[in-house]
Amino acid sequence: MFLRPGSRLRFEFPVPCSIFSILLLIKRKFYCMPQKVLSYTRLHLTDRLPLTCAREGTCCHGKAVWINPWELAFLAKTKGMPVRYFRDRFCEFGGIRLLFDGPAGWKGLAACCMYQPGAGCTVHAGRPLVCRLYPLGRERHGESTAYLFRGEQFPCSEGCPGVVDLPDLTVAEYLDGQQVDRGEAAQDAYLDLVQELADGAFALLLDTGLAATGDRLTLRSWRRLGEMTPQELTGHIGPEWIDRLMLSGEDGVDDPVAYVKRHHDQLQEYAQEAFGSLPDAAALSGGSGLMMAMALHLGRSLGAEPSDLAATWIKTARKHGAKE
Ligand code: SF4
Ligand code: SF4
Repeated sequence: MFLRPGSRLRFEFPVPCSIFSILLLIKRKFYCMPQKVLSYTRLHLTDRLPLTCAREGTCCHGKAVWINPWELAFLAKTKGMPVRYFRDRFCEFGGIRLLFDGPAGWKGLAACCMYQPGAGCTVHAGRPLVCRLYPLGRERHGESTAYLFRGEQFPCSEGCPGVVDLPDLTVAEYLDGQQVDRGEAAQDAYLDLVQELADGAFALLLDTGLAATGDRLTLRSWRRLGEMTPQELTGHIGPEWIDRLMLSGEDGVDDPVAYVKRHHDQLQEYAQEAFGSLPDAAALSGGSGLMMAMALHLGRSLGAEPSDLAATWIKTARKHGAKE
């Protein structure tokens, strides 16, 4: 367990968490669109699709590329830059999204900051999972994983109609060629860390006796946090904890599972020191809110919708006696 102010609690991850490139790479104007209104085409690994890329850079324009802390470090390493410098120069919201501030291209949309007209992606070897998967997405629900694409029409056909004249590939062949293994391992490990951070928020509310006092402020704060924009949530967490959440060092990037494990241990130590012996209800409520805010922020970096996460976690807390 992440934090130990009292007895052990374990809450299952509450909703299907889409680690889904089509969700993660949706155009800015759809940024706030909830996952539930989107439709998807589910795929088998043996399905054949026009998955040979036309290399026109279409999908590197006007999108939102969310990245987790390991991807941030991997991108920085690929560019030969310190992680903090890369984060501050090329990312927003504390490092969970790549800037799209490059020259306008397809449909007049701004390019990803890693895109160079005429040359393509300048960080190809270290590109995030979402870019390796596109036009496909990956959905994780519990232990099961599925691949899909957004809508009923193959996504590339709008921006790169010539893709249908290139060789078809099976989904399995495409994933193999994109070398998604390390990115998927990192996403799955960070998904567990999201759960651990939320466990910490639960523990401060339920294990400490705070909920038993009739406290209603904590769950109300969780709901507000779930509704915050990425910018608001970044500000709420504050620079010190944002750095702890997003910057886990330069070493060990080649082994994503070990990297996330080390990051987990670092965060656990910080949390134990900051929240392990809080003096009063107000401090416990604030600590719970901060742990929840970090769980939601990291969850967003993985493709989860914070308002859905918060709503389901609030429901779980209420079942265990907390009040809103
Ligand atoms: S839209 Fe599809 S075919 Fe076009 S550049 Fe992107 S991945 Fe390649
Ligand atoms: S990281 Fe590379 S592949 Fe991904 S959107 Fe940016 S330029 Fe395109």
